[in-house]
Amino acid sequence: MKCSQNGMFSKGELLRYGPLELSPSSGALHYGQGLFEGLKAYRKEDGSVLLFRPQENALRMRIGADRMCMPSPTIDQFVDAIRLTVLANKRWVPPTGKGSLYIRPLLIGSGAVLGVSPAPEYTFLVFVSPVGNYFKEGLAPINLIVENEYHRAGPGGTGGVKTIGNYASVFRALKKAKENGYSDVLYLDCIHKKYLEEVSSCNIFVVKNKVISTPEVKGTILPGITRKSIIDVARGQGYQVEERPVSVEELLDVDEVFCTGTAVVVAPVGSITYLERRVEYGNKGLGVVSQQLYSSLTRLQMGLSEDKMGWTIQLE
Ligand code: PMP
Repeated sequence: MKCSQNGMFSKGELLRYGPLELSPSSGALHYGQGLFEGLKAYRKEDGSVLLFRPQENALRMRIGADRMCMPSPTIDQFVDAIRLTVLANKRWVPPTGKGSLYIRPLLIGSGAVLGVSPAPEYTFLVFVSPVGNYFKEGLAPINLIVENEYHRAGPGGTGGVKTIGNYASVFRALKKAKENGYSDVLYLDCIHKKYLEEVSSCNIFVVKNKVISTPEVKGTILPGITRKSIIDVARGQGYQVEERPVSVEELLDVDEVFCTGTAVVVAPVGSITYLERRVEYGNKGLGVVSQQLYSSLTRLQMGLSEDKMGWTIQLE
């Protein structure tokens, strides 16, 4: 779908996956004017396909587009584009429990622009790819390192929206972490260098005496849709969930830590290393709360439990 100065997107069409034709002076290429989303379609046991909260991704893209001075598709246009693309690729949705179809909506400033200013034309597209379960052996704990040198986002910046440039700032820290055997990086706030922010592509939660806490969403971390869903699921199961500043020292004294995101759903954290000190969690990371929440959310997404929240959309 394309959009020029009038801010309205044209009707979309299905195209075969392939290279994009793009001006060398496209705004996205030079000034990072781009946003993306990530969500998944799951196959139910009866063969039909479920989308999980696509309106939330549409809304997040609209909020991001406002921050990036871009027009964005309406919620209906966004969800319809996903519906059309997934239905056309339905055969690629893996069987229940064997993975999912990852859906990647992308909005870019495709028009040519030389000075630092918003592009005159925009392109919105959606492509899909089957993905396996994030962890081959089911639920497996990850090992994080707290990053002291690099930051992902700062106050007043674009850390709270899913813009393409945010990911450029994590490469260096992630490369360093992976070379040292860690799964991912846990970022701290860049003012006090003390409060937890998030992991490169997930939000973080800690559990102490059955109370679940997660950093507040205040502009420097991405408001994850899995984060929001887990908060509701956990509260529905009677857990107290607090959104508050979580300091890095608390990591020394919590029972469980887990991350949430579309890719991992819920990833239990087995250990966190901070200033050379490694702290281990739960039963080799597989804490009771993390396991329970992982199971509740994945069952709901696959249509294996009743969707009391009305979060899934069945296609056809
Ligand atoms: N934080 C960042 C930086 C991310 O890229 C993601 C993945 N979209 C998340 C958190 C988790 O968000 P969600 O649950 O919507 O996938």
